[in-house]
Amino acid sequence: MSKNILETSSRREFVHGCLAAVGAATLNGLGSGCSRSASAASSSFAVVSAAGTADEAINQSASAPRYLELERSGELRRRDRQLWSMLGDCTLCPRECGENRIRGRAGKCGVADTFKIASFGPHFGEEAPLVGSRGSGTIFFSNCNLLCVFCQNWQINHRGDGRVTTHAELAGMMMALQRSGCHNINLVTPTHLVPHIVRALRIAIADGLRLPVLYNSSGYESLVVLRLLDGVIDVYLPDFKYQDSQLAARFSDGAPDYQTHAAAAIKEMHRQVGTLRVTNGIAQRGLLIRHLVLPENTAGTDGFVKWVAAELGTDTHVNIMGQYSPQYHANQYPQLSRRPTREEIAQAMQWAREAGLQNFH
Ligand code: SF4
Repeated sequence: MSKNILETSSRREFVHGCLAAVGAATLNGLGSGCSRSASAASSSFAVVSAAGTADEAINQSASAPRYLELERSGELRRRDRQLWSMLGDCTLCPRECGENRIRGRAGKCGVADTFKIASFGPHFGEEAPLVGSRGSGTIFFSNCNLLCVFCQNWQINHRGDGRVTTHAELAGMMMALQRSGCHNINLVTPTHLVPHIVRALRIAIADGLRLPVLYNSSGYESLVVLRLLDGVIDVYLPDFKYQDSQLAARFSDGAPDYQTHAAAAIKEMHRQVGTLRVTNGIAQRGLLIRHLVLPENTAGTDGFVKWVAAELGTDTHVNIMGQYSPQYHANQYPQLSRRPTREEIAQAMQWAREAGLQNFH
């Protein structure tokens, strides 16, 4: 087992800090970026205050992001149009609601023709290769297409806290994160908003964006959409939450096909970017899977690690997370109403060792 690469602060702490900032400043014009730094949370667009310069961060990249060539060739423009057309009969995710979001009809994710961002800023609570010395340039999108009963960020994902944002503003956030020296652009819960993200990304590319882009999702993805992101995304950070369809249906708003779609999605992500590659301590490209240990092995950790070893290889990077605590509606379900015990977490790690995984944390 590799050394533990997790920093001490959790995403939940980060989000709650951001929610406080959102409440106080309503993203303050173009946006009150959030980090654990009070100065960053209290200022407006120049929120991001990580040390270092954008040039230094860009110079740490092993190579230019492939999205530059996609834009240069006109391919990204073509994909932008194709993604946008999917909004008219929404099949952006496996829910396949079929709603015309362009005409203002929302599907399961609750998002129609506008979109919201809860917060953005340098985040130091992600895995070390994502954070480096100047933080991961995190953008938290509001709402979600999976909607778990134990959601750790329910105010954002279920209630939709955040501020309505334009494409130009989102592009501006990406540029502000780059100027601050962040090592990457980290798109959190992006699945239901991919057309908006690609459109904003194209504006940012024209403005000089050069950072790797991270896709940080629940794993409940459409293969069609993922293929349109081939070359756009540098690092994929999917969850793999369950192995059992009945549990997925019960705990994630009637998504019994979660395991099937997440498995196919993660294989496609792996095909695109391969094993995680780290240069000068910073992730440049690849796949890192997150798996939250749930009480009573509700997440099916033993099956998950075996699947990773068999389907992706034992060198796959996996973060087995032990920080679950009951949030949102979790207390309504006995098997989710407590933290996992030390023994349960140790057992999860043991299963990973027995499966032969070499890069789990
Ligand atoms: S992105 Fe939203 S509206 Fe579209 S299929 Fe998924 S849940 Fe339904």
